Amino acid sequence: MESIVIKDVLLNERTTSILIENNLISGIGDHVPMPDNAFVIEGKGKAALPSFANMHTHAAMTLLKGMGSDLPLHSWLNDCIWPAEKHLDCEAVYWGVKLACLEMIKSGTTLFNDMYFLLPWAAKAVAEMGIRGILGINVFGDGDELTNEAFLQLRDEVEGAGELLKLSIAPHSIYTVSEKGLVHCAEMSHRYGTLYQIHMSETEKEVQDCLAAHNCRPYELLERTGVLELTESRLVGAHSLYLDAEEIDLMARHHVTATHNPCSNLKLGSGYRFLYSKLREAGVNITLGTDGSASSNNLDMIEAARLMSYLQKGVRQDPTVLPTNELLQVTTENGFKAAGINAGRIEVGKVADLILVDLNNLAFIPMHDTLSGLFYAAHGDAVDTVICNGRIVMHNRHVEGEEEIRTQAFRQARKLRP
Ligand SMILES: [Zn+2]
Repeated sequence: MESIVIKDVLLNERTTSILIENNLISGIGDHVPMPDNAFVIEGKGKAALPSFANMHTHAAMTLLKGMGSDLPLHSWLNDCIWPAEKHLDCEAVYWGVKLACLEMIKSGTTLFNDMYFLLPWAAKAVAEMGIRGILGINVFGDGDELTNEAFLQLRDEVEGAGELLKLSIAPHSIYTVSEKGLVHCAEMSHRYGTLYQIHMSETEKEVQDCLAAHNCRPYELLERTGVLELTESRLVGAHSLYLDAEEIDLMARHHVTATHNPCSNLKLGSGYRFLYSKLREAGVNITLGTDGSASSNNLDMIEAARLMSYLQKGVRQDPTVLPTNELLQVTTENGFKAAGINAGRIEVGKVADLILVDLNNLAFIPMHDTLSGLFYAAHGDAVDTVICNGRIVMHNRHVEGEEEIRTQAFRQARKLRP
């Protein structure tokens, strides 16, 4: 792998240079060594930042973007999304995931944590795009089809597709998976050391139904069934909106990662109750996601971060809540931490997943504060260059194969219309 030198780039508000060798950041300073074979990126007029980790997605659903807008949740799913999904074949998933990866790269994301089906085709698409995907096997009911043999075969196919791919286990939710299924998935996650991704406490109704059926709240159900113990430090609870104090305590004790998806929650009218400050005070690892584009309509982490910050400030009537340095941590470092990857900060010894943003973008003119420009003024298109695992996947906003992805996206999407 060739080395990369990013010359004269703004990093933490001062100009410096960054050396990347193999997949690691190996030098930062005014006079970093310049290896003979180094690819030199002119960093003048750009700022270096860690790349984003989008911790809850359904990437292939990007093909469904814009279908059934503004419908009530029930008819959106029954009359629109589920009928369209029946037509999603291997080829559609492959191109849908490519389209999603293209959008993620263009807006500075190098890691996404996904939940869907037809994973081998998704894995091939992610590997070809050069970013990191954690692909979760979607499980419903008792999960009987998730046998050891099935898991191992899928792991070979997904992780064999490329070194940046990981297989995980993703029971859909506590209301679509039985107690037996939840425990079975946890045992498999424990046996194979995978992440356990699940939609949790997304709506008030989910909590009320859980209380009626199990006489406890959703996270208490996971504790009572032994799931939290089996998935210690590997459980990612997407949404985690409607929580009480005991549940937050359980999440902290079992090192659960909470993934907030403000765009999806608001668009689907799930209400807004993300308890950022309480979760942070308890020590829960808080991350951010966009959710699938069928509900969030884009995969732009900058937009999701801004919405999260403004909602927290507005709802709490306190502009000091969730400042930009915490937003950066939530959107980068905390996600990589949940995935067990030593990235998310630009420091010597860290894995080289980073972005350069274009300071000539109007969001940064005039410039008083880079992070304020990034999170409160910019959009994903301010990202100019993306490096994942020490490899350039976008430079000067050019991504290899982009035109074919656009053409195929239209072609595949036509299959989904009734
Ligand atoms: Zn979701």
